[in-house]
Amino acid sequence: MYLKRVTLHIIALPLVRPFRTAQGVLHTRRLLLLEAEVDDVIGWGECAAFETPFYTAETIETARHVLRDFLIPAARRAPLEHPAQVQTRFGWVRGHPMAKAALEMALWDAWGKLRGVSLASMLGAARKEVPVGVAVGVQEDLNTLLETVGAYRARGYRRVKLKIKPGWDVQPVAAVRRAFPHLPLQVDANAAYTRESAEGLLSLDEYGLLLIEQPLPEDDLPGHARLQARLQTPLCLDESITSPAQARAALELGACRVLNIKPGRVGGLSRAVEIHDLSRSRDVPVWCGGMLESGLGRAANLALAALPGFTLPGDISATERYYREDITAERFVLSADGTLPVPAAPGLGVHVERRLLQRFCMQHDMIDG
Ligand SMILES: [Mg+2]
Repeated sequence: MYLKRVTLHIIALPLVRPFRTAQGVLHTRRLLLLEAEVDDVIGWGECAAFETPFYTAETIETARHVLRDFLIPAARRAPLEHPAQVQTRFGWVRGHPMAKAALEMALWDAWGKLRGVSLASMLGAARKEVPVGVAVGVQEDLNTLLETVGAYRARGYRRVKLKIKPGWDVQPVAAVRRAFPHLPLQVDANAAYTRESAEGLLSLDEYGLLLIEQPLPEDDLPGHARLQARLQTPLCLDESITSPAQARAALELGACRVLNIKPGRVGGLSRAVEIHDLSRSRDVPVWCGGMLESGLGRAANLALAALPGFTLPGDISATERYYREDITAERFVLSADGTLPVPAAPGLGVHVERRLLQRFCMQHDMIDG
């Protein structure tokens, strides 16, 4: 297959609920989308980066620059035999995993459409639906938290993840556990603790959590290993895992017992599958994280999460959790038993509605030189 040209679109999708970051509150999710012309089909890719580098170093602007000036020209140099082969063309480009993942995703979509095969089948997944969970941000107070968790529970979500930070950790966990004694529950600190302040997390062991996600800064694998040695609850790493090599290092050091896999953060779907295979060979459970994806990214995450090693529910919520309107014709609706369907149509299995793309599009840029 040959990548003829790529149009980069930046869209702004209004969020149903504001999303709080360290920088402030987002009311819309800006996303960089790739429309790739490959042979005679269009493949779509979505870049996970945000506008600001609060989660990892990449932003929409850095991804756009690296795609336009380096990755797209490298991919267009010669025909490709397989989507994952593009990684060898990217080999000389240091970092920028989200930019790389976005282009690889567009190639998977095109490859699937050319061959009439779904992404899930191409990745080796057989499940038709996957159990999913929901992430709950830091709330105003404990009552609001309990109401929010209760509402998601009533909708059928299989597990709940609470965002925690110093000053909002043991108390909210204790309150939710008291109100929902059997709820599969986990917490995510987004690297908000230091080695010293993380001492307080040892008392979370008594609440039967599935896992504690990324308490320490992403470059502190030894700190996570020391903390894991003293905790009964499994630690799970998110921000720290930027490649298969980093996943191997974390497991070898004993820095975690569970991995959160996001295709964007690890440089692409092919690398996400590599980390899945590595984890499975070591009996380490994995789950799929979320980045406030549109229907495109959600479709890709569902295909990935259908692989057999994804034994914990992912942060892949129904469309309505995030957006009243999305850019894909398909909306993902939670079933009564807390699952979402894995798309079965060729490629990503979803269709971009031009009308909606135009409505939410802020900027676009064609790259064919
Ligand atoms: Mg996380």
